[in-house]
Amino acid sequence: MRIDGERLNDNIQQLGEIGYRAGEGVTRLALGEEDMRARRWLEGRMQEAGLQVRTDAAANMIGRLPCGRPEADCVVIGSHLDTVPQGGRYDGALGVLAGLEVAQICRENGIQLPWDLEVINFTDEEGHHYAGTFGSRAMMEGARDEDLHRSRMEGVPTLAEDLRAVGVDPECLFQARRDPDGIRAYLELHIEQGSRMEEEGIDVAAVTGIVGIYRYQVTVEGEANHAGTTSMHDRDDALVKATLPIQLLPEWARARSDEMVATVGQVFVEPGAVNIIPARCDFTVELRSLESEDMARVRDRLHCWLAENDAGEMHTVFEKDGDLLDDELTDIIIDQGAAEDFAVARLPSGAGHDAQSFASCSVPTGMIFIPSRGGLSHCPEEYSEPEWVTAGGQVLLRSVLELARRDGQGSTVQPRCGD
Ligand SMILES: [Zn+2]
Repeated sequence: MRIDGERLNDNIQQLGEIGYRAGEGVTRLALGEEDMRARRWLEGRMQEAGLQVRTDAAANMIGRLPCGRPEADCVVIGSHLDTVPQGGRYDGALGVLAGLEVAQICRENGIQLPWDLEVINFTDEEGHHYAGTFGSRAMMEGARDEDLHRSRMEGVPTLAEDLRAVGVDPECLFQARRDPDGIRAYLELHIEQGSRMEEEGIDVAAVTGIVGIYRYQVTVEGEANHAGTTSMHDRDDALVKATLPIQLLPEWARARSDEMVATVGQVFVEPGAVNIIPARCDFTVELRSLESEDMARVRDRLHCWLAENDAGEMHTVFEKDGDLLDDELTDIIIDQGAAEDFAVARLPSGAGHDAQSFASCSVPTGMIFIPSRGGLSHCPEEYSEPEWVTAGGQVLLRSVLELARRDGQGSTVQPRCGD
């Protein structure tokens, strides 16, 4: 059985027109005007495909292909239609539309699945309002108070405000919560957002896990003084002191593992004038790895270095461990990709995804990557070739059918009668 690659690619291009501006790419901020237009468009597509459409208490859009048994488990295929400002056509959209394509093919061919199949567009994966993966977290872990009532920056409405604006009562958010036991599996197709697959000629990858993120804030103190009259021996320059650990961090990360990354993404200098020696330097440290042990070691090294050199203070912003994805689903994805003669590989994901919300609640979770041209993402140049899109969709379909075959007491999947 094959997906309709032309229909899938066509849907991606049609959806990509919503919020598109020449030279600026696609902007569909979660629950904003363009996102709501995209949701209405998707609702029409889901209905045409014969799915039952509803919106839950976190404004997640759910299209369901019921299997006909009232107490059946479900398999979820999800991702998101919201984008970053001036983003691309593929991040998120690919996963939702590939899920729709799989459900549509199953229905058109009368496939009797052993569970309900749900295609979900999750709310605010990109964290426009406050933090990312809001909708999937609200469904699995339950959202936090700050998700609803805090704003990422001045001028951005809170999620509670925007939910109300689209007719969803934030007081009822808890109703979006689902029992992980009722979810047989979660699958997501996504663009790699890196360059490794294209460089190594990999067509389809099975994601082994989603990396953890440890974030810190470091403050280095010095003494402000006149930049012209203070001699070089008499200075206590906070910025100069801060550059030492900033240069050591990448070395420590590389020494620990090939997979780990360390980034200083923000540096603030006070008082921040051209003619004053910096009295204070604050910088952020972000570590990402599948291995918590590696991140902890680099954190401890930084902490010790700062203490031994009396060079600064370090505060933890948060430490979130990585999540390993399900071995059985990963093997299925690899096998189904190989059966199509695609070059396949196993890769970790360096970015967070809705899949993580399910994996961290022990729902068996599998993720498929296709290459991103030039490794570009979150920008107008984001692009994946139509044949890459079709390949990813095809492996997603095959993986769903293989899981159905295994769950259907080993019997082959039977066409549904009278449908
Ligand atoms: Zn995404």
